[in-house]
Parts: sequence; C-alpha cells; structure tokens
Amino acid sequence: MNDPGGFEILTADPGSRARRGRLRTRHGTIETPCFMPVGTQGSVKAMSPAELEAIGTQVVLGNTYHLAIRPGIEIVETCGGLHPFMGWTRPILTDSGGYQVFSLARLRTITARGVAFQSHIDGRRLFLGPVEAMALQRRLGSDIAMVFDECAPWPCDRDYACQAVDKTLAWAAICSEQERADGQLVFGIVQGGEYTDLRRQCAERLVEIGFDGYAVGGVSVGEPEDVLLRGIRDSVGVLPPDRPRYLMGVGKRHQMLEAIANGVDMFDCVIPTRYARNGTAFTRRGRYPVKAGEYKDDKRPVEEGCDCYACSRFSRAYIRHLLNVNEILGIRLLTLHNLHRFMSFMQDVRQALDAGSFGAYRERWTERKDE
Ligand SMILES: [Zn+2]
Repeated sequence: MNDPGGFEILTADPGSRARRGRLRTRHGTIETPCFMPVGTQGSVKAMSPAELEAIGTQVVLGNTYHLAIRPGIEIVETCGGLHPFMGWTRPILTDSGGYQVFSLARLRTITARGVAFQSHIDGRRLFLGPVEAMALQRRLGSDIAMVFDECAPWPCDRDYACQAVDKTLAWAAICSEQERADGQLVFGIVQGGEYTDLRRQCAERLVEIGFDGYAVGGVSVGEPEDVLLRGIRDSVGVLPPDRPRYLMGVGKRHQMLEAIANGVDMFDCVIPTRYARNGTAFTRRGRYPVKAGEYKDDKRPVEEGCDCYACSRFSRAYIRHLLNVNEILGIRLLTLHNLHRFMSFMQDVRQALDAGSFGAYRERWTERKDE
C-alpha cells in the first residue's frame, strides 16, 4: 500500500492560486493538474486501455449509475471489480450516480433517504441514496468515490438551491460513515448553485465532516461563463489547501486554466471524446471540423507538429473520408488525437508550474477559447 490519500503540493504558483501536486491512490500516483477521460459505460469510447496509457492517461472516470443499470454491479463484482472488468490497471474515479439520477432518470421521488426512480433504459424501479451509492462504489472498487449529492439545475431559485445544499450535506455525512473498498478515497461535493453564501456554507460544512478531497459540482450546467467562474472561486476559496480539488464536468481549456489559477487540481469532461465522434478536432489553438469539405484533399495531419499516432501516420483527407463513410477507424483516430491533445495540455500546464512560468502560459491562452 502506498499511503492512499496522500497529497503533496510540489510547487505553488506565486502569481495565482495554481499548484502542482501529486495524489497517491491504491492504483498509482496522479500528477496534478490532471484531466480524466470519461469512461461512462466502463470504456472510454473507442479507446483501448493500451491506447489510453500510451498517451499518458493517469486516471479515468466510471459512471456508477450506468454500470448499475447495465451490466449490473453483481457482474462487475463477479469479474473482480471495475479495474479487471475493464482491463485498466491505473486509478479510477467513480461518480455516485447522483447526477444521472437527477438528469436522466424518470419519475423521480426524492426523499430524505435518497431518490426512487425509473431506469431510463428499461423502466425498472430503482432506489439510490447515499448508503446505496457508497455500497455500489465500494463493490466497483474505485480508487476515488464521490458522495451522493443533488446537482441543482440552472437557473435555480434560491429556495431550491438551499434545499439541494441541505440534502447534499446530510447525504455527505452519511456517505462519510459508509464502509469503503480497500484504500478507497472519498471526495465531498460543493453545491449551492450561483449563490456565493450557499457555496461557502456548503464547503465549510463539508470540511467539518472531513473528506480526502473536495469537488466543485453544479457548474457547467448551462450558466454563463462569469457565473461558472464565480461558482468555482466561491467554492474553492473555503477548501483546505492540503487536499485535492476536482472540478466536475468542465473541459473547455480556457475555463480549466482559469480554474487551475483558482486552485483546482482535477478535471473530467466528455468534450474531447464526444467532439471527436462529431468530427471535430482540437488543436493547440482551438478546434475545427475535420469533416468540412475544405479538408477533402488536405494532405496535412489533423494537427501539424502533433506526435500522436493519428497525426504521425494519416492525413486530414483520409480521416475526413473515414468519418464521412462512418468507418469506425475515423472516430478512433480522432478520439486518440483529441485525448492526446488534452493530455499534452495538462502536461504543458504541469511543466509551466514546475518551471515557474504558469503566468506566461495562462497569458498565451487569453486570446483563445474552446467555444
Ligand atoms: Zn495528433
């Protein structure tokens, strides 16, 4: 055992709250800031574990709600847990399923104990609350488990946001007392919508309960960028500096950079993989549609100067052709490139922090936006 939960800050940026850190988990060390590709159904769509490792993926995310519905946690457990089931030996973070219950499931009845709902796949009646969510994550054997919370929508009036915070806190306290998998870390989640005082109160109370790390939830739910960034600042400002901080569901690079400058360490988002399936490539400077007609005879790689496998070997013209005729390889190559770009982005951020040049790196991004 390598002291799971140990979090070391290697360097702190003098010009912002950004920090370069290292989080130890049972399945290995995570260098932060880091980006976590999303493996919703026990797979980062279109990528094999070997491909993910080759581009420097340190940790992936698994969705408890989806895995509980299909194939069912019993089956994953029979196969030895989520790591052996998906053939991934590095760290895994699982969400609690709360977000999906509130966004996907039908006919919800919310009580103090949790949420009764109908599966969005086959209509089965199911129940998920803090006790159930932690038990499922224990059985999956993830390295980092998330508490069961209520993610309020946007816009959301103050009364509703307040009630969501109350439930989130009561559930967080229950989650903190549940049995865990060997070496499993548990992160609390700050909610509170766009209300500064609610976010601060929520963060303060979570810190009193005490978690291995803290996440900022309920952001990137359709609100304007200034509200999103304020929500991050309001939440992070109260969190203890010696614990990792995870911003849930934000994957636009200029927004991640601002979050890093405000002290966030970990990110997850479906942007690089989902956009690849829509034929969009990310580059150092932004993004563009490889599928567009203007690239039909373009012999250059998806991104000039990129050393990923897709760019080392194939042209835009070829990848565009594959995408247009729905060849699986087209999606695979573009997903590989996009994830490589995001991994390189975080590597660049870590290097800049190590070298004391994060301010200059951030400056270079002020003119660019992932919109
Ligand atoms: Zn590439």
